[in-house]
Amino acid sequence: MDKENTTHDNWFRERLLKRFTDYIKIDTTSDRHSQSQPTTPGQLELAEKLFGELKNFSLADLELGAGGFLFATLPANLPLGSKEPPVIGFIAHLDTSEAAPGKDIRAQLHEDYNGGVIKLKDGVVLDPDEFPDLLDYRGDTVITSDGTTLLGADDKAGIAEIMTAVEYLQSHKEIKHGNIQIIFTPDEEQGLSMERFPMEKVKAEYCYTLDGGKEGTIEDECFEAYKAELIFRGISIHPGDARGKLVNAIEMVNSFLTLLPQAESAQATDERYGFYFPLEIKGSPEEAELLLYLRDFEREVVKRRIEAVKTFAQSVEAAYPGGKVTVNVKKQYSNMLQHLRKVPEVTALLEEAIRESGIEPQTEIVRGGTDGARLSELGVPTPNVFAGGFNFHSRKEWVPLSAMVRATKTVINLSRLWAERA
Ligand SMILES: [Zn+2]
Repeated sequence: MDKENTTHDNWFRERLLKRFTDYIKIDTTSDRHSQSQPTTPGQLELAEKLFGELKNFSLADLELGAGGFLFATLPANLPLGSKEPPVIGFIAHLDTSEAAPGKDIRAQLHEDYNGGVIKLKDGVVLDPDEFPDLLDYRGDTVITSDGTTLLGADDKAGIAEIMTAVEYLQSHKEIKHGNIQIIFTPDEEQGLSMERFPMEKVKAEYCYTLDGGKEGTIEDECFEAYKAELIFRGISIHPGDARGKLVNAIEMVNSFLTLLPQAESAQATDERYGFYFPLEIKGSPEEAELLLYLRDFEREVVKRRIEAVKTFAQSVEAAYPGGKVTVNVKKQYSNMLQHLRKVPEVTALLEEAIRESGIEPQTEIVRGGTDGARLSELGVPTPNVFAGGFNFHSRKEWVPLSAMVRATKTVINLSRLWAERA
């Protein structure tokens, strides 16, 4: 590595570490049961902090809405008369998952990591035997929590990377770029960010979410996702007089569940195989409800799954004369690949930007949804880019500092590459 690169890297490492350890001190755990927007006050606190930081840069349209959505634009610096490239957006989310504690996060820096077992509090252990990716970061600074909380690299690594890229572009005017929009969203982990998203504020033609894991990865494909709400109506009679008359809705649900193929459950599938996932059930002998998630990568296949659910419902009805089953199917999000295929340069330039940051890009599928899936559907193609962390939503979450540097460089490279292409 030449000297200039080393100096650069030190600058990136220092800025990223400072920002990241600062941001994770604010508890931004989102809360699925809260009616507030954002669902928790910590997210607004972080958004305000970022707002203050962005004020020091000369940005346009800096705006923090009441719901916790933060928007800003880094204005283009192209020579007069040059062709204007499309506005590009970078997105990260403010909240952390409620799957593990997110209050009082204390970052542990394992500097010059030696490839050994990392022992944290509460018996939390990161063993390279279990997580071999650790071995790729010998000599690097590996960041973990102290074992009592998650780390929050999902997605504060993404936020720190975007902020640092903006700072770098501001002080390196020789790097030419078009208008770059920065968007930070609350409550992504609750799937609420896109529901409440102020779409009219988006100026970007294409966006990139920095919310992925291992360095180098691009996620450009996700599920075609539907949910089925089933209502089972029975006939309720006092159990003492029930013979020949009672139709028990609870038993109808049970009978329905036994029809779902076990080989197509969430726990029996991976990679490109879809599934049926029952996730909520409630009711009484008179009426019971079942919520079912249906997931596949191909639209035709998920459509078949929907048909199967309707057929299973009919056979339950047939088996319980007098009982009724209604099926209500709703689309949740769709596979972003179909939208990304229409503008192949979005992914092509991303691949180039990653390569320039010093690593081979790797395209992966997401067995879930992303904010990018919704945005892509709404006409803003948005693949997901690595933020560098591992073991999200757990006390074993960790992130290597060098991966954060590469993600930051990827943002900078992308900004430049879009302008060069115009
Ligand atoms: Zn995330």
